[in-house]
Amino acid sequence: MNSVIIAAAGSGTRFGSDIPKQFHTLGGKPLIAHTISRFEECGSIDEIVIVCSSDQINSLGKIVIEHSFTKVKSVVAGGNTRAESVKNGFAAMNKDAVIVAVHDGVRPFVTPKEIDAVVAKADETGVACLVGLVIDTIKEVDGEMIVRTIDRKSLRRALTPQTFRYSILREALSGDLGEDVTDECSLVERLGLPIAFIEGSSRNIKITTADDILIAESFLADQAR
Ligand code: C5P
Repeated sequence: MNSVIIAAAGSGTRFGSDIPKQFHTLGGKPLIAHTISRFEECGSIDEIVIVCSSDQINSLGKIVIEHSFTKVKSVVAGGNTRAESVKNGFAAMNKDAVIVAVHDGVRPFVTPKEIDAVVAKADETGVACLVGLVIDTIKEVDGEMIVRTIDRKSLRRALTPQTFRYSILREALSGDLGEDVTDECSLVERLGLPIAFIEGSSRNIKITTADDILIAESFLADQAR
């Protein structure tokens, strides 16, 4: 069996709304429900653990019942940082999981096909990350000045899901989880283990600002056509 931890305990300070972005209504249902649906629909995931802030556990429970999500086994409280939230989700997971995926609750446009591909890659290699191409020219800055241009051909954006053999993620999460940790693959990099990648779609956006909701609504409209 394989599991996913959906991290949805962020406060969404960049979103500029009283409602955390994961509960924002998108196409008539909460954003987080779209995200959960993607994992309900895919063949490679058997168990879903959702991590949210403690005051949203009841609301999430209601969303799970309303949408008849059958794979959601636990909804648990997150921590002060994303890595702590993932660690809390990991503690609630079925210990028989072979592959564990970690996904941002605010990425509702990942496809079941991408999830299956990145789970299969971790099964083969140990760890895999869904990534996106970098299309802008990237500059390194120092103070107020640009110091150099980084060759974008060798760069990728880390998307989610990121997928791990159970024992590798357990070891990665047992180390120092500093505040600068923004994804779980970086914890595996510290262990010195190789990480494979799968090229993902540019539609797998992380909804972060109010503008991203406009983009998300247009993706939904396009899917409905
Ligand atoms: O803050 P950032 O955009 O990196 O958040 C990515 C994901 O991690 C979001 O889905 C957010 O809800 C989640 N998160 C979390 N616990 C935190 C901070 C962020 O689950 N303490």
